[in-house]
Amino acid sequence: MGNPIDSERRCACKIGRTIEQYGLTDLNEEIRHRRDGQNASLRVLADYINKQILEAALAEAETDLTNVAYGAVSADDALSAVYETLADDQIPADREARVRKRFEQNGIDLGEIESNWVTHPTVRSHLNNCLDIDTSRGIRITTNAARNTIEWARTRCGQVVEQTISRLVSADIVTMQSTDVSVMIQITCPECGNTYRFGELLEQESCACSSDETAEPTPK
Ligand SMILES: [Zn+2]
Ligand SMILES: [Zn+2]
Repeated sequence: MGNPIDSERRCACKIGRTIEQYGLTDLNEEIRHRRDGQNASLRVLADYINKQILEAALAEAETDLTNVAYGAVSADDALSAVYETLADDQIPADREARVRKRFEQNGIDLGEIESNWVTHPTVRSHLNNCLDIDTSRGIRITTNAARNTIEWARTRCGQVVEQTISRLVSADIVTMQSTDVSVMIQITCPECGNTYRFGELLEQESCACSSDETAEPTPK
């Protein structure tokens, strides 16, 4: 499936270099989505980026997260647990020391990983200077940001469906030579039952039923 923002230019800032070093090809797209679609703060984005770095470094070292985490149930949990143990000052020192020891035993240079971690000022300058995202004002949704978010969701949804079908094929549950999945987003007005594509709704700005009733168009 096509991806509208994968042609994003590379940048030479610390985050750009990290993307190169760890092959984090989706990172800019994810950052943009989290900022535009989920109003993620710079601090939340920094934690997200650092976790991606940690995960990629562990994958590179072919180390399973469960080798360095304690008592985590899923891989996602393990990633968050390990990251928090290392990055959060509130964590008891002995617990942090145990996790650090685990990295050492697995032959992973934690110092190098931590030196690649970013702080929120670095995230701010990457957003402002490399991704052209203005962080000076409050986060307000724009048509463009909304389009990007919806497109992001549609692409992700299609990918998940495709991956699931190919797993069914591998498991011999479904037989199919190749698959072509398309995802269509429909928005239905519960008042009148009219259905819109996302682009149509943006164009019309309201459902036909509400524009009939209101004399004045809703202010934007
Ligand atoms: Zn950058
Ligand atoms: Zn309606």
